[in-house]
Amino acid sequence: MQQISTCVRMGCMFPAFFDRSKNIHHPFCSKTCASSSRCKNPNCISPLYVDPETGTQHPYCSRSCALLRRSPSAGLCSRQGCNNPRYTSPQNPPKYYDYCTPNCLWKETESLTETKLTALSDPANNLDYLAVKTAFNSPGFTIKAIFRIQYPPAISNRFLNYREQVRATSNAQSSKAITIKRFHGTRNVQCVAVNEMAKGKAVGTTNFCSFARCGPCGIIKTGLRGGNDGRVWSGGSSATSHSYTITIGGENTRVMFLCDAVGQGLPEAAPVACVEAILPRFLILYS
Ligand SMILES: [Zn+2]
Ligand SMILES: [Zn+2]
Ligand SMILES: [Zn+2]
Ligand SMILES: [Zn+2]
Repeated sequence: MQQISTCVRMGCMFPAFFDRSKNIHHPFCSKTCASSSRCKNPNCISPLYVDPETGTQHPYCSRSCALLRRSPSAGLCSRQGCNNPRYTSPQNPPKYYDYCTPNCLWKETESLTETKLTALSDPANNLDYLAVKTAFNSPGFTIKAIFRIQYPPAISNRFLNYREQVRATSNAQSSKAITIKRFHGTRNVQCVAVNEMAKGKAVGTTNFCSFARCGPCGIIKTGLRGGNDGRVWSGGSSATSHSYTITIGGENTRVMFLCDAVGQGLPEAAPVACVEAILPRFLILYS
């Protein structure tokens, strides 16, 4: 008895094509369906991989086809002049970090003359995006965009030097061992730059306003500022920092910074000791 199967393209209910002359069962009903949902590796005829949980179609049938077809430049470290392959997860090769090592990112930072913002555009495989998402995740929040922030040395070094001092005096094994994640929300929003960024508009530091009290623009350009007591407010989770955010211009975008900080044992809602003890690493636009 001949089993009739339907076309493997998502949503197509036509029977799959059976070539009687050659007695070959094809996975698709037609050439149209085949070309629209066949693995992008031209040497492969398998259907695209469809995530069984989300229903999302991937461009390839399998991890091996994806790796085979990855363009050589896509696999390189983001720092100009570095020819090392970017870091890929040993357990899960399609997942990657933009740089070959964390040190390579800091090396790039040393050459900056103004803040560099990089939109993280690959939510499925970019390890930074995934790490920020995991740290940020809170029921009811929707991430619109995540940007990596790299400050020029005048700003980043005050944190790196402070952290190294604390590490040396506390005899900690590594700077990583004394680094904690803290969130910083901002309610002082004076312009719509972040609304535009959330829509995917390309940004440079010229997009930011120069209102002295505009939180996102000021923090992006010149880093966090201490309050009257010199301390910088921070939260241990996005839910805590959420109450320090606001929307502007009739849109629902909110701004939160995910920061590296030095301050073991800080309570959930508490300031860090001084402005040198905290450095924004990622800008999260969400609703
Ligand atoms: Zn079909
Ligand atoms: Zn394939
Ligand atoms: Zn590198
Ligand atoms: Zn502004």
